This record gives sequence, structure tokens and C-alpha cells, in this order.
Amino acid sequence: MGNTKSIVFPGDVIAKEEEYLSGRNTQDINGNIIATVFGKVEKDEKNLTISIKTQENAIRPKKGDIVYGKIIRVINKDAIVSISGIYMNGKIMPVNIEGRIKLPITNKNMYSHIITIGDLVRAKIINIRPLYVTIFNPELGVIKTKCLICRKELIIKENKLYCTNCQRNETRKIANDYGDIKIYGDANER
Ligand SMILES: [Zn+2]
Repeated sequence: MGNTKSIVFPGDVIAKEEEYLSGRNTQDINGNIIATVFGKVEKDEKNLTISIKTQENAIRPKKGDIVYGKIIRVINKDAIVSISGIYMNGKIMPVNIEGRIKLPITNKNMYSHIITIGDLVRAKIINIRPLYVTIFNPELGVIKTKCLICRKELIIKENKLYCTNCQRNETRKIANDYGDIKIYGDANER
């Protein structure tokens, strides 16, 4: 991947081990330097260290805010999202909060056509206490997901999620820019 992206997601590969040493907010996993937080890539060419710079201001989420996070589990008919980024003033600011998504399902085990554990989602806050978010708008939903069988990241092929490894389709509630993610906040601001 290129290094022109200003904001990286947790889990993004930002460099190879032979290029840079793993710095602040990164991890070295199997030779890849991975971002562990939302933020800006910072390279120290003198010490050959790569880090992720975050903003440390206290952030108070409010109704209508767009957030980014990872699905960590499903309890009853709620998906639990570990929220690590919140869109504010044109930027994604790092946060560390937990929210829930009410899933429109009748059987608590039948959710994998909407989200799966580990998916990265863009969601909108609809309630603060307790924190509930929704993904059921066209611009909201899953922005990264993996094949249920082989765990390869799914791509968009003929408008469907597709695993190039297993050569089969899967379904999720994806954001309309899946595969070409644009960072933005509330739809009304655009
Ligand atoms: Zn697969």
C-alpha cells in the first residue's frame, strides 16, 4: 500500500519490518508493521522508526456522530462494537468506547449476513446512555470483512462481496463505499 493515506485504520499494514522499526501505536506481526489505533503515519527517517500519531484531547461523543470500530461479539440480538475512532472536524479522532448495534434478527445466532466478529464498521450514534449505534444507512455498515471459511479479506465483485480464494460470495450490510473507503462524517455535512 502507498503511504499517501493520511489516516490509517487499526489493523492496516503501514510498512514492512525490513523498512522500519515498529514505533508508538504499532505492532510488528509476521514481518508487517501494523497500526493499532486510528491516526496519522509518522516516519522517523533518522532512527528508521514508524509510528502512529493520535490526538489526545478528551472527546465526548454525541448523537449523530459517525464512529469507526470493530465488531467484537454478539450478545442476544446486539452486536458489540469496540469503537476506536470518531469523526470530528474532518478528522477521525481516536477514542476507546464500546457501543451496541441492534440487529434485526429473530434468531440470535443468525447474524452473519449482516455482520461477523472482527468486521470493521462505520456507524452512527443514535443513543448515548447506553451507547447505541446504527449501520442501517447506505453510507454506514461494514467497511472491512473476511471470508467465513478461509478468512481472506472480501472484495467487491459485480456488486457483491466475493472471496477470491474460495470463489464464492458472502453477504453483509456493507457501506456503499466498501472497497474504496472514504473518510467522512455525517451525511448531512457533505
Ligand atoms: Zn474464502
